Amino acid sequence: MLRIGCHLSSSKGFLAMGKEAVKIGANTFQFFTRNPRGGNAKKLDLTDIEAYLKYAKEHGIAQILAHAPYTLNACAKDPGLREFTYNTMCDDLSRLSHIPDAMYNFHPGSHVKQGAEMGIQYISDMLNRINGHGYATCILLETMAGKGTEMGRSFEELRSVIDRVEDSSRLGVCLDTCHVFDGGYDIVCHLEKVLAEFDAVIGLGRLKAVHLNDSKNDLGSHKDRHEKIGEGKIGLGAFHAIVSHPSLKPLPFFLETPNGLDGYQREIALLRGF
Ligand code: FE
Ligand code: FE
Ligand code: ZN
Repeated sequence: MLRIGCHLSSSKGFLAMGKEAVKIGANTFQFFTRNPRGGNAKKLDLTDIEAYLKYAKEHGIAQILAHAPYTLNACAKDPGLREFTYNTMCDDLSRLSHIPDAMYNFHPGSHVKQGAEMGIQYISDMLNRINGHGYATCILLETMAGKGTEMGRSFEELRSVIDRVEDSSRLGVCLDTCHVFDGGYDIVCHLEKVLAEFDAVIGLGRLKAVHLNDSKNDLGSHKDRHEKIGEGKIGLGAFHAIVSHPSLKPLPFFLETPNGLDGYQREIALLRGF
């Protein structure tokens, strides 16, 4: 059975998210670990987590994905901002230790004109420091659209980061369909070729999750504007191929489309119907 869910608001806690997921036909979900613009996380509610874990087990929810705030930047120019990113990610990961099967996704960052080489160094330095704590959670680098000086715009960039992480056994990649398409990877006409390239450069074994988003813009536009499934430039046919592909279908899929819960429910039903 397809493992699919969408991005949910974490404001009411884990049990509430679990129930919401079940209501819309999802068996996984993604959430922001704190306000996506940064700031303090809510106090950890262990009672809520315990109730959630029991509910998740009963309802077959698994492999949920925590998303770091998108304002973090592991390769910022300002050392204070890099330190803030490191501290926030450590705090997120120590909280996630209470949810054994959760994974943690983050945007590699923007090198802000310091150059991709500097970006790769800062990101891998931070991951090496994080690894020093021995967190059990699998950390995922997200493939990005390459807007401005955004890192993760190519499989090679992600590979370079992974190569410089001493222990990369808990390091994976989350492939965002809108981002890779905007980044110039033609998943519409050449899905097989793109996956072969991913395999050759990074290795499909690193691929741990997929963000399912259509794109408002053309191939290679480097824009990153998500669209509802089937209503953008990627189109329904490509999503059919993606969720049925033997290398992808065992992975958890997360919708980050511009939708309310009822829209997500329809998209989940649509994708399950393929
Ligand atoms: Fe993201
Ligand atoms: Fe994404
Ligand atoms: Zn995006």
